[in-house]
Amino acid sequence: MLDVKGLTVAYGTLTAVRAVSLRVDEGEIVAVVGPNGAGKTTTLSAVAGLLKPRHGTIEFEGREIQGKAPEDIVRRGVALVPEGRHIFASLTVEENLLLGATSRIDRAGVRRSLDEQCARFPILADRLKQHAGYLSGGEQQQLAIARALMSSPRLLLLDEPSLGLAPRIVDDVFATITELRAGGLSVLLVEQNATRAVAMSDRAYVLGTGRVTRSGTPEQLGEGGGMAAAYLGLS
Ligand code: ATP
Repeated sequence: MLDVKGLTVAYGTLTAVRAVSLRVDEGEIVAVVGPNGAGKTTTLSAVAGLLKPRHGTIEFEGREIQGKAPEDIVRRGVALVPEGRHIFASLTVEENLLLGATSRIDRAGVRRSLDEQCARFPILADRLKQHAGYLSGGEQQQLAIARALMSSPRLLLLDEPSLGLAPRIVDDVFATITELRAGGLSVLLVEQNATRAVAMSDRAYVLGTGRVTRSGTPEQLGEGGGMAAAYLGLS
């Protein structure tokens, strides 16, 4: 479904991602883990069209999308839930949700998606007319995910969805991701919470200073010590 080959992305003279290759097959949850500054967000941003790669190709459903405009990539079926959620605090929950559907022209379909998100996230349904700034961190994360789903994507890119959330809320967020996959969505999940992310994934890639240092199934990467060593670049 998603096939990234030899991706290199730079900020001026700083090469943040170097020859990274990864793939997501249909219906998979694929995790990208690694320490701060490893290049996880940069990789996701390039897939979403927010950054132009220096080298490499990004294929989605057999078509090259590298360098295409973000709205074009959304229209093709790839939606990003950005790090830090980027909720518009002074807009209502409903207005935030509708911003996720600006690439769609089928008004009836948008209405249906809104109803679906309200059914999936009842807390958002209760607060549709309230300013999003009044939501808690966990509720804002639900809103950020629901907003991305409003574009009716087939691949969801999630950047650090557990960041800054209480452990119980993190459980809810990870449960939501698993449910979405059960509903047929494919997921590329970037996380610093490596152990949890790898455990829930079908396959994972470990990034260290812009390069893939290890990859494989959770079993291949190993639980506990093995995973921690990989994460720290010790193995
Ligand atoms: P984090 O979890 O902290 O977001 P990350 O693995 O997502 O880490 P990136 O944010 O992709 O890492 O950063 C990779 C490298 O690129 C780092 O060295 C970072 O300092 C640098 N970098 C990121 N964004 C920019 C930017 N806008 N301008 C210049 N350098 C940047």
